[in-house]
Amino acid sequence: MQKTLLTIKYILKSCATLLLLSSVLNVHAQPTPSAPIRAVKCGRLLDVRTGRVSANGVVLVQGTKILQAGANVTIPAGAEVIDLGNALVLPGLIDAHTHLLQNYQPELGGDDNNMLVTVTTMSTARRALLGAAMGREDLEAGITTVRDLGNSGQNGDVALRDAINKGQVVGPRIVASTRALSAAGGQFGELTPEAQALVAQEYVAISGVEEARRAVRQALYDGADCIKVIVNTDPRVVSLAELQVIVEEAHRVGKTVAAHAIGDEATRMAAQAGVNSIEHAYTIPDDVLKMMKARNIFLVPTDYPAEFYLAAFQAPASATPEQRQGYERGARAFAASNNQRLARAVKAGVRIAAGSDEYYQLPGKTRGQASLMMFRAYAAAGMKPLDIIRAATLNGAELLGLKDKIGALEPGLAADLIAVDGDPLADITALEIVRFVMKGGQVIKQEPAAK
Ligand SMILES: [Zn+2]
Repeated sequence: MQKTLLTIKYILKSCATLLLLSSVLNVHAQPTPSAPIRAVKCGRLLDVRTGRVSANGVVLVQGTKILQAGANVTIPAGAEVIDLGNALVLPGLIDAHTHLLQNYQPELGGDDNNMLVTVTTMSTARRALLGAAMGREDLEAGITTVRDLGNSGQNGDVALRDAINKGQVVGPRIVASTRALSAAGGQFGELTPEAQALVAQEYVAISGVEEARRAVRQALYDGADCIKVIVNTDPRVVSLAELQVIVEEAHRVGKTVAAHAIGDEATRMAAQAGVNSIEHAYTIPDDVLKMMKARNIFLVPTDYPAEFYLAAFQAPASATPEQRQGYERGARAFAASNNQRLARAVKAGVRIAAGSDEYYQLPGKTRGQASLMMFRAYAAAGMKPLDIIRAATLNGAELLGLKDKIGALEPGLAADLIAVDGDPLADITALEIVRFVMKGGQVIKQEPAAK
């Protein structure tokens, strides 16, 4: 025992030395003026802040960061040139609501069944590997950063984030939440008393302010970059006092809170508690939208066009023609209702951060390609293409607490950039076909221009 303690002390001491050493080494790992410079040349360069498109743009990249970007940038002699022809270059996209460690199969029949199969048949290790595949698909589609909001087993998202940061796995930059906090049962359907132990695989159930406080502190210890809370899963709901404590504990250490909330009371409590973003809010009253604008709370809409819902959640083979029609009507009504509330939010001055909430296998699409279909819904709600692009760049970066690191093509920011052949300012679906992706200075994908 004594010996073990001594060993532990030695290891702790060594760790402290290592930490000190690595911080010293990190200083030297920063890009130095002598690191080679690469020049990305493009016919069109979009400044997401001003909305201006410059002809013959150049982005100079040194190491992992942008050195300079614009139309009148001189390419230094000897720089490696990546010529993207007439492509439009813009910052890498940010998806503020993902579930990379989940990939539900529609044929299993809805969220309840899928969640059960996932937690009972997939270890967190297996799910982290699934997340690596989903993350790669996001990255290749142009999504260079995600905020992953739970349903990742016990800290599987943290494991994936760290492996990506170490260069062991190729994937998007991840802002991880660890397990979501919730009322009893998480988002599970009805479970027997024996099966309820499964809930802790996916959620941290809280009851009372001290449990809420403890859950946030545990999440931070587990490596969370932000906190996710499920405000309501009808009829279960957390309280305002619990939400306030969650926000207090997270904000104390500079972390943000994402609140899943739907309906008048849940969205109002989330806004009153001062969370940083409200997720989904498929129904939300005007007074809450007003409060969100006043408190700079982002809405992450997680919307899709009806065709997405129809492709992802096909009517069962046994459905009658009438049932199929009803199914289609339901999908269209849901999409239309979401369009209306997004238009109301934009009109009320609420800031929007793009979030896919994609967790179903969509036939014929990669995870990333399916996620980008969210932009069609934003356009259908009346958002202008430039505002949609800002929702997936500048706004996402601000919500994720990364506005000094990503979200624009400016000196000192990470060299996260993508290129498309089409004109997303005229037709937002042009963003669905990304042919060049660079993340942190590393070329992830480079395809020739379309003929
Ligand atoms: Zn979600």
